[in-house]
Formats: sequence, structure tokens, C-alpha cells
Amino acid sequence: TTPIETLEFQSEARQLLQLMIHSIYSNKDTFLRELVSNASDALDKLRLESYRDKDLDADTSDLHIALETDAAERTLTVRDNGIGMTRDEVVALIGTIAKSGTADFLNKLKEAKDAAASQDLIGQFGVGFYASFMVADKVTLVTRKAGTTAGVRWESSGEGTYTLEPVEDAPQGTAVTLHLKPEDAEDHLYDYTSPAKVREIVKKYSDFITWPIRMAGEATEGEEPKVETVNSMKALWARSSSEVTEDEYHEFYKHVSHDWQDPLETIRLQAEGTFEYQALLFLPSHAPMDLFLRERKRGVQLYVKRVFIMDDCESLVPEYLRFVKGVVDAQDLSLNVSREILQQDRQIQLIRRRLVKKVLSTVKTMMTADAEKYATFWREFGRAVKEGLLDDFENREAILEISSFASTHDAEKPTSLREYVERMKNGQEHIYFMTGESRSAIENSPHMEAFRAKGFEVLVLTDPIDEMWVDAVPGFDGKQFQSIAKGQVDLESDEDKKATEVAREQQNKDFEGLLSWMGTALGEDVKEVRLSSRLTTSPACIVGDTHDLSPTLEKMYRAMGQ
Ligand code: ADP
Ligand code: MG
Repeated sequence: TTPIETLEFQSEARQLLQLMIHSIYSNKDTFLRELVSNASDALDKLRLESYRDKDLDADTSDLHIALETDAAERTLTVRDNGIGMTRDEVVALIGTIAKSGTADFLNKLKEAKDAAASQDLIGQFGVGFYASFMVADKVTLVTRKAGTTAGVRWESSGEGTYTLEPVEDAPQGTAVTLHLKPEDAEDHLYDYTSPAKVREIVKKYSDFITWPIRMAGEATEGEEPKVETVNSMKALWARSSSEVTEDEYHEFYKHVSHDWQDPLETIRLQAEGTFEYQALLFLPSHAPMDLFLRERKRGVQLYVKRVFIMDDCESLVPEYLRFVKGVVDAQDLSLNVSREILQQDRQIQLIRRRLVKKVLSTVKTMMTADAEKYATFWREFGRAVKEGLLDDFENREAILEISSFASTHDAEKPTSLREYVERMKNGQEHIYFMTGESRSAIENSPHMEAFRAKGFEVLVLTDPIDEMWVDAVPGFDGKQFQSIAKGQVDLESDEDKKATEVAREQQNKDFEGLLSWMGTALGEDVKEVRLSSRLTTSPACIVGDTHDLSPTLEKMYRAMGQ
């Protein structure tokens, strides 16, 4: 007798499975994309492992994916002879969701107002292996880790628990068998036992997969069905752009990003000559759940001569562009290259510099060519991009160029700095801004009064990162950034100044008694009490010295215990 264990799904996994079983996702075909994508990853991993570990006892002679349909049993099997999983890996990888932001995603989903909103969220999250339960009421996974002998069978109907059982003679790699839902049996739309249907889905979603995806064709009388390779296997980044359709790019994006939604923008780069490489990059249409989490990843994969080397290659993109997804394929690196070596590699640094410039220039073009697209980009990623103002000196001006900010000029639409500068009034020397917790706090601040009265535009900066970069970045286009809450802000023209100087002197005399009395009364709490030209309706306001911390930064530091 073989011992069968019954284990419970982690609670987040359970919730996600419920969603899949009751399938509120409209495009069920996507389950196959997910399984093929996993199989392809497993083959990539095995090939890489066998390069790294010459002693690995694995068969790499015919790496491929096989699809098997069985109309009588109503099953579809996706099989690979890749890396496979140990028993413990099955528990860790299939029984739980390790993805960061999962809890957050499930909470948002509970609050989702309608089916469309939940669809959208599921699309942003990407469901992976569990997508199987959209079409299957039972899933069996048999796997054996390459280089080991012990196989394991995992089985579940997705309802809270799964079973595990040792398997004697499991082939290397993983086979996932879907027992298709009986209620879909009559619907030819969901006939995943039909080779024609399956071929169509593979063509549509997985054509670019670089491993052969094999399947037996339709059975014909008297003849055994022929096994054929269904996909074209062409690496998209190696094909000329005129040959590749937008749909193909989009499906490839979904494979590398694990996102279910289309990207916002596709970027291609090529370099020939002594150091040859190709890059195919994407700007996603929405921020990932973990964009601002500590354990977040950076999205670009590294290939060497078509061979997958690593995910999340942090040497290829700076932190502030961590949302960029895609592939870089370099011709002249060693297949044994490690993350540590990459950090030092001059060629990688050159690629990185070029990628950064290309991404920034793509966004710049987007600003004028497709304002709506740019607005989406900035809404989703602006906060991350602005981090670059602090550590990418080389591209600072370019980053400022593609940044936009809320402003008093328009209550709804953010402005670029270029537009701000074009609107600057005669004699205005600085780019005025104020930082704060919210737009309303800034707009109601007494500091704003004189600027509003004089018709000066003020940038309304409410992101925490704004507090940081405004101190680090001197200016844009030769104009300095000037906080309206700090130091002496000079709002008057030369003639006005002469006229007011006389009046001011008189006022200073008139109020001397009051000012010095207030200074004494407030004592240590203030440096100085003075008359101001900033205010039009409020009687008084507190002003920081030019080099003081802003109130929000002060609060941040205090919160951090400094
Ligand atoms: P993702 O692919 O986004 O990581 P999935 O839910 O699709 O999420 O898969 C979860 C994990 O299970 C994968 O990261 C991988 O480690 C493992 N896995 C899934 N399918 C296979 C497979 N065919 N071979 C080996 N490991 C697999
Ligand atoms: Mg996957």
C-alpha cells in the first residue's frame, strides 16, 4: 500500500482556487498558456542547470513539451521533460502562492464592485497554474525532479485540500492532467480534447515558445495520428520587427511578465558588431502589486545566444525602472555567467545605459504622440521613475523631461516641467513648488496666498519621494526649483519693489513694538518674527529657513525615530 497524504492549501491559495473554480474570468483558453509557459520555464531551468552542473544525472537529449488529448476520458495533459519538482517543492510551489502582494490582491478583489472590476484585478495579478481550475474539476500532476529518482503525484479538485503520493516510475519532468469539467462537454468553445482547438490556442498564445510543442493530430481512419510540432519556435527578439505582429508581442509579454493584460508599449533594441545583443522590452499597462514592496523584483530576463540564463537580472535595469519587462539576449557572454560577474561586466553596463536611454526616450515620444498612454504610464509608474532623480545623475534632465506633476494651473491634469516653463510669467525666475500630504492641504496653506493672488503657478507635490528629490535636484532647463514654504520668496517686480520699500520701512517702524514683543513671547520656538508680503488673507504663517527640512520631511524623520 502506498501512503497517500492529504494536505491543506494555504488560505490565500484556497481563496484564489475558489475564484478559479467559479471561473469569473471570461477567457478560459488562457489556462493553456499558463501551463505551457510553466513547462517552457521548466525546460529553460533544466538546460541551464545542466550547463552549470556537469554531473547532473538528467536527460537533456530531446527537451520538449507534449500535449495529449483524450476525448473518451475528457482529459488534456501538458507534459514536459524539464526540471521537475521534488515533493517538498510541490508543496511549496503548488500548495501555496508565494507571490508578494497576494493578500493585498485578494482584499481588493473582495471590494471589487462588479464582474468587470474583478476581471481586471485577476488580469493584473495573473493566476498561473491555478488557471487549470477554470476548465478542470480535478487536476493531477505527476513530477520527478531531474537528477533524482523519487516521483510524486499531486491531485486536487481545488476544494481546500490536495493529496500527495509517491510514484515509482515517473518520467523526468512534469505532466499536468486536466479532468475537464463535465458541464463544458457540450460546448465546442471549450472542447479542449479537440486537437484542432488545442492547436489553435497554442498558435495564438504560445507560438514563440522556443521549445517544440508536440501534439498528435486528428485521428484518421486506418492511420495512426501523426505527431507534429505546433509552434514556430522563433525567438521574437531575433526576428525582424516587420515580421512580428502586435498580438505576438503581446502574448510574449504575457509569458515573460506573468501578467494577463496587454503591455502599454513594446520597445526593441539591437546592437551589431563586436558586441552583439538584442533586447525586447515592454512597459506594462499597470503597476505590479509589489512595485513598492521590499522584496520586489526587476523584470528583465537575460538570455545568452537564445539560452535562458536568469530572471530578474538586476544588472540590466536600474531600480527605478524595475517595472520594465522583457528579454535581453547577448551573444558574447558565457553561459556560466553569474549575477556577481554581471555586476562588474562592462558590456552589461553598456547595455544597461542604452536600455535606460531608450526607455526614457520612448516615454518622451509617448508624451507627445499619445498623451493618454503617457498619462497611464505616469499614473502607474511615475512614483518609481522619480526615484531615478536621486540616483541617476546622468539621466536626471531626461527624467525631469518625462515627469509630470500636479499643479495649480489645472486641478485635474498634471503638467510637464516643459509646459510649466512655457507658462512662466515675465520676470519669474524660479519653478515654484510646495510639498505636502495632500493637494487640499497644499492649496489651503497660507503660503499659497500670495502666489495665487499674483497668478504664479505652483507645483503641488504630494508623493513622499518628492520631498527627497526637490532637495537633490537643483533645477530644470536652467530654472531653479523654489519651495514657496521656505526662505524669502521674492514675488515683486523692480518698480513694485521701489514703491513698497518705502511703505515697508514705514510699516516696520509702525510694527516694531509688536514684532519684538512677539519675538520675546515666542522665544526659543522661532528664529525671527517679521512682516511678510506672502499673505493676503491669513494674518500670519510659519516659514522654514531656506535650508530647513520641510514640515512633511520633518514628520517623516520623526516617525523614523530620528
Ligand atoms: P509562476 O509561473 O508565475 O511562478 P505558477 O502558478 O504558474 O506561477 O507556477 C508556480 C510554480 O510552480 C512555478 O514558479 C514553478 O516553480 C512551479 N511549476 C509549475 N509548473 C511547473 C512545471 N511544469 N515544472 C516545474 N515546475 C513547475
Ligand atoms: Mg506560470
